Amino acid sequence: MTPIAVHAFNPGPMTGSGNWTWLIPGRVPTLVDAGTGDPRHLDAVSEALAGARLAHVLVTHAHVDHASGAVALAERFPGARFFKMPWPERDARWPAPWEAIGDGRIIEAGDELLRAIHTPGHAPDHLCFWHQASRTLFSGDLALKGTTVYIPPNARGDLGDYLASLERVRALKPARLLPGHGAVIDDPESVLLGYLEHRRAREEQIVAALRSGEATPDSLVPLIYRGLKESLFQVARETVLAHLLKLEREGRAGRRGDSWHII
Ligand SMILES: [Zn+2]
Repeated sequence: MTPIAVHAFNPGPMTGSGNWTWLIPGRVPTLVDAGTGDPRHLDAVSEALAGARLAHVLVTHAHVDHASGAVALAERFPGARFFKMPWPERDARWPAPWEAIGDGRIIEAGDELLRAIHTPGHAPDHLCFWHQASRTLFSGDLALKGTTVYIPPNARGDLGDYLASLERVRALKPARLLPGHGAVIDDPESVLLGYLEHRRAREEQIVAALRSGEATPDSLVPLIYRGLKESLFQVARETVLAHLLKLEREGRAGRRGDSWHII
């Protein structure tokens, strides 16, 4: 299987240099992720298809940079089928002819078969797509080379789910991850293990801060993120909150109003 990286032409503050979508040529030409509908992306998909008809579009999750382009793709490539795990409130924003898939679903892609792997955490509907023969995982926003992944509780992100998803993917022993952003990850084990260690260290910092007294997410941010830029405060606050909610679910932390303590 030789997927072709097709850039989505959507650089921005939340997407870095923009998204990658992946075109898998073959009997069932398949695109993984939909971009945002930029006409240059649609042209690049056409070019990668080299005259073939786009058959399947597999969307990793409903975030705008991965899913919104489905509407324009459906217009440009009539007959293509669009698959994702449902997140009804979000999916309604991008009115493409979605077909629901879930964990374990096998889908034809190119000349091969891919298996959907439910990997919630960054988003509740997040799927990765696994090609067993080449041990390749189309990994969406599960991992980003050189940085961490945002887990926003205010948009149904869940840190406990995310850590379980990382372990689940580790257990597959992938040879490479083809992500939605940034460079191909050809050392998945070290990246995934690095994430798990990073989150464990962050959790220890938060637990230590709470041991020295009750605290709110706002008061924890400057203790955990020294010298943080003002513009990143909300992202840092959401990350701290994600940790607190995980500790609460594990029965290790509690709260009165907005004030958290260790149990
Ligand atoms: Zn995302």
